[in-house]
Amino acid sequence: MERCPACNAKYIGKRVCHRCKTDLGILIDIEEKAEFHREKALFAFVSNDFEQMFFHARRSCSLRRTPDAVRLLACAALVVNQFNLALFLWSSLRKSR
Ligand SMILES: [Zn+2]
Repeated sequence: MERCPACNAKYIGKRVCHRCKTDLGILIDIEEKAEFHREKALFAFVSNDFEQMFFHARRSCSLRRTPDAVRLLACAALVVNQFNLALFLWSSLRKSR
């Protein structure tokens, strides 16, 4: 998160927005869970556990849908032979440019 979603103030790493006092804790927790699952997916990939990679990449992407999360999920879908999903995700990235 780079900015407060309520007032657009720059995010300075606190759980409460310094300007509007919005509780940002839930969003921060979601971002941290997404990062946790992203790291698990990458670890599963280097461990050749592609089903676990796919599971964690999907969780990460559902928690925080960034272009990198979609790219990781597309790669995970590819290695578990879900080619239609991989193509769908990859083409959705190209359309969002
Ligand atoms: Zn704010």
